[in-house]
Amino acid sequence: MEGVDDELRELYQTMILDHNKNPRNFGHLDSHTAQAEGHNPLCGDELTVELVVEGDRVVDVAFAGSGCAISTASASLMTEFVKGKTVKEVEEGFERFHDLVTAAPSEDVDAPELGKLAVFSGVREFPMRVKCATLCWHTLRSAIAGGDEVAKTE
Ligand code: ZN
Repeated sequence: MEGVDDELRELYQTMILDHNKNPRNFGHLDSHTAQAEGHNPLCGDELTVELVVEGDRVVDVAFAGSGCAISTASASLMTEFVKGKTVKEVEEGFERFHDLVTAAPSEDVDAPELGKLAVFSGVREFPMRVKCATLCWHTLRSAIAGGDEVAKTE
């Protein structure tokens, strides 16, 4: 099924390039209830995540900053994923995503609940890139936890 894999890879690359070029939820919210900054010194990615949490639900989210294509696309797709979800669902999403990008390349990871985030399964083959893909998630979790600390991938 080599051909299917190639097609998938191409589809994934297209989606990552698209979200890098036109990031969703990019910029700053008029007001937010939580925010955090994240740095990935290995690559130079820097981003800020802002959130509006009402009760236990993430009702709005935005990110800003600059980074490589993987980090920007990951943040863009993450904001789409978490908007409207409960904090618990976000935490579960992070765990699934983390499993997805850190699994052994030979391992079959099926994560239908992650939807479009599955495009990052290819990152497994590039350990340096895992930090780019997870930076936004670490930053988001740091914002939810209410810490003023800068999230670092190290
Ligand atoms: Zn990066």
